[in-house]
Amino acid sequence: MKKIQSVKGMNDLLPSDSPLWQHVEAIVSDLLIRYGYGEIRFPIVESTDLFKRGIGEATDIIEKEMYTFSDRNGDSLSMRPEGTASCVRACEQHGLLYNQTQRLWYQGPMFRYERPQKGRLRQFHQIGIETFGFSDADIEAELLCLTARLWRELGISEYVTLQINSLGTSEARQQYRDALVTYLEQRKEELDADSQRRLTTNPLRILDSKVPATQALLNDAPVLSDYLSDESKAHFEELTCLLTAAGIAYELNPRLVRGLDYYSNTVFEWVTTHLGAQGTVCAGGRYDSLVEQLGGRPTPAFGCAMGIERLVLLLTELNAVPSGLDQPVDIYVAAVGDVKAKAFALAEQVRDAMPFLRVQSHCGGGSFKNQLKRADKTGATVALILGEIEAANEQVTIKHLRTDAEQQTVMQTELISKLQAAFEL
Ligand code: ATP
Ligand code: MG
Repeated sequence: MKKIQSVKGMNDLLPSDSPLWQHVEAIVSDLLIRYGYGEIRFPIVESTDLFKRGIGEATDIIEKEMYTFSDRNGDSLSMRPEGTASCVRACEQHGLLYNQTQRLWYQGPMFRYERPQKGRLRQFHQIGIETFGFSDADIEAELLCLTARLWRELGISEYVTLQINSLGTSEARQQYRDALVTYLEQRKEELDADSQRRLTTNPLRILDSKVPATQALLNDAPVLSDYLSDESKAHFEELTCLLTAAGIAYELNPRLVRGLDYYSNTVFEWVTTHLGAQGTVCAGGRYDSLVEQLGGRPTPAFGCAMGIERLVLLLTELNAVPSGLDQPVDIYVAAVGDVKAKAFALAEQVRDAMPFLRVQSHCGGGSFKNQLKRADKTGATVALILGEIEAANEQVTIKHLRTDAEQQTVMQTELISKLQAAFEL
């Protein structure tokens, strides 16, 4: 019978790779806690309307990337393609936004029907950070400092660059949009097909077209920054001052627009040149109109999301993976002969006394030689060997698997102090 395979673009994470994911996730969640952010979890499936209203009908996500289905009631549901709309929905539903500020984060799988390639999947994983109730640039600087620190702690800060831009208010963008469309209409034939279509649906997206001819055409196009209100300019200016004061380097990218409709004023991306075309590892911006768009009171908001696959890929490609992540075991407990019960008890004693060490008990019997082979394979530093003679004498043998240190048979009562010495604790 033909074996069933995983869905294209939806990957398994195997035990050999999960330690690196756990490493990244642990660094991120620890950092977020240190900055005072609280974790929020919401469902993977939401009503399709939430995403349509939240993300915007004329976006790639809604036009062609969403996994949408009818449930048995005939309700239209969708697998979340991103977290922001769900986060706002959950906050509104539980009254977390009115008259309050929130610093939140979440993580988990997102689903988009895209063409799978390196750094681009159909089920991918994001860590998202959202803040509500802060209208000034200070929260933006805070989040950018946080992400910059994250890159330092992951050891990749030299390989990522911060790009920022201001999209202004929706009024400014409307004016700019008209000017851009007028300009591009005159040269429509020179535009690529995608951009021609976007001319009527979402003209700002043309700015981040990857097609060289289109990019060349944009060199003489009107620029968004000329359309910003004084207030937007002052806001952006404040952000750049705060970043400079905090020592965070940035590049101004006047063509940075972001794919989603809900952004206004500040937008940013952390990009790398080490991942080919999928070079954005973290992206976000201000979305002051979204809460209202989803039925809440006007609430300023600023947030971002990073792709875990891309971070993991980057760490791997840069050889920045810390050593020792793949060693799951410190101590392997071998039980030779009729001593299973005593060996288990001994292993539990070690776990009680040394909870920070990873202890694995041998299961399944087998010869002494066989058990030692297994011990070696786990990467353990030390094997504890309990044979029938040791058990009868209330002793145990400590064998060092990675050094030439001589093996020792000791009284079980001395075991913990011997292990403390062996692990230099
Ligand atoms: P891109 O321009 O790469 O398509 P995007 O603008 O669609 O990204 P966002 O919706 O802002 O991305 O998502 C934030 C981050 O999530 C991205 O910067 C990226 O790291 C990650 N990401 C987005 N889509 C995918 C995907 N299909 N596969 C893997 N990671 C993704
Ligand atoms: Mg995309």
